[in-house]
Amino acid sequence: MRRPLVAGNWKMNLTLAEARALAQGVASKAASFGNAEVGVIPAFVHVAAVGEAIKGSNVALGAQDAYWEKNGAFTGEISTAMLVDLGVKYVLVGHSERRHVLGETSAICNKKVHAILNVPSLSCIYCIGEKLEERQANKTFDVCRSQLVDGLAGVDKAKAERLVIAYEPVWAIGTGLNATKEQAQEAHAFIRGELAKIFDAATAASIRIQYGGSVKASNAAELMSQPDVDGALVGGASLKADEFAGIIAAAAAAKR
Ligand code: PEP
Repeated sequence: MRRPLVAGNWKMNLTLAEARALAQGVASKAASFGNAEVGVIPAFVHVAAVGEAIKGSNVALGAQDAYWEKNGAFTGEISTAMLVDLGVKYVLVGHSERRHVLGETSAICNKKVHAILNVPSLSCIYCIGEKLEERQANKTFDVCRSQLVDGLAGVDKAKAERLVIAYEPVWAIGTGLNATKEQAQEAHAFIRGELAKIFDAATAASIRIQYGGSVKASNAAELMSQPDVDGALVGGASLKADEFAGIIAAAAAAKR
């Protein structure tokens, strides 16, 4: 059984004091849900403080991005070694806001995926998903396939145990419109099939595929009940410890 992973993407939100308090709140609540893995993904400038706040808890530390070069003249960028130094375990790549607001392509994502998976202590959460017009034009599978094929090109299957896929339909992110459980399961099953072609069936069966897009405590149970949904990547609802805890509880209960 794949262990569900529920990760909170805090995006560009919270003051330092708020980030510390939220991290402490999540750490105290997460202690009761042993079979779900929990992560928090603060803004870069809060990663160190949040790492301190969750020390000794069962909450893992994440980062929202990483650059692929090891060091050098890349103003504003953050290397994987800097993240490792701070105790980061999970690194997001290709979040829809990076793709569609900041112009990141799957080719850029591919460099980041390699840089992250080349560090044995890091796991990569690679985000994919279609825009509304793509779903309406029946292109959901094509978009997901090309984001997987291009973003994961050249990844060694031995490293895929540290790969997590987040399926996040862009039309569901931050909109309050979540995919139905049937839409989520259909996309996740398709993604697992594509992972089997890229790696092999056993590897695909072991890779966790999170659903993301307006997950809340009130809709988490039905989404998490789907066989190929292995947890959630949560934006807005991860900014409230109680709401986030409700999602963790739903994932833990569904995958017991
Ligand atoms: C996200 O940012 O990854 C996300 C899924 O956001 P929200 O939960 O707010 O839709």
